[in-house]
Amino acid sequence: MTAALYLVCALRRSAAAAVPLSGFEVSLRVAAAVISSSNIFISDAYHNGDRKPGCYTKEHELFWMRCDYFGISAILAYNQLLWTANIGWHCRTRLAAIFSSICLAVVGAAAPRLSGNRDGSTKLVKYITGLQFMPSLTYLVLTMSGAMTRIAAIYVLYATGLVLYLAKTPQSEVFGFHEYFHGFVVLGHLASMGLDLLDIASPVARVAAGTWVHRTPPMALDSLPLVLAPWCLLFVLLPNKGRFLAKLKGKETP
Ligand SMILES: [Zn+2]
Repeated sequence: MTAALYLVCALRRSAAAAVPLSGFEVSLRVAAAVISSSNIFISDAYHNGDRKPGCYTKEHELFWMRCDYFGISAILAYNQLLWTANIGWHCRTRLAAIFSSICLAVVGAAAPRLSGNRDGSTKLVKYITGLQFMPSLTYLVLTMSGAMTRIAAIYVLYATGLVLYLAKTPQSEVFGFHEYFHGFVVLGHLASMGLDLLDIASPVARVAAGTWVHRTPPMALDSLPLVLAPWCLLFVLLPNKGRFLAKLKGKETP
């Protein structure tokens, strides 16, 4: 529903904008709407199979787990492409967007082979989605300057969810780190849609179709504090950081 509303608003704003969306840019918004809604549907099917009569089988869980990994990779790829388009396809950011798309293709090819959380293919898929986040998406956000720095908000929301998940904090039977993770992912989707609608109405750096910017953007680093914030939080939350610090200092804790 929200995604459909986003799509309608995007098309209406594009029609009235000084730089209307190209066909490819419209298709990116369609992908954003489809992928973000699918992500919520897939998460529900994957996690709540036990609440649906006759659904809690090994095959059911495996199928939706495969979809879940593909969905996460697709979220990272569409955000990378959408925001690269919104800054005019600058040279290196375009390469990062191609890299993220290739990662999505590899995850798509590997997904049907996933057989559990600890098998080799699943580990590979985790590493690949990690590469989509760091360095690809991180690099894109770090090139943003001025008004475009606001897209760091999307990064911070997704990254905070991931950080809480990795740190397994807070622990709760009712609403713990896993629920916070999904909550932050949904907030990331909403932020991406809202900020994109703002940018369609008055593009900060988007250029008309066919006039791609080929110079490499400077690493503005305006958003560096925001990019670092979730990872600093991870460090604070990590329960075994004492041992990590000891290793850094060159001495193991007993
Ligand atoms: Zn989950």
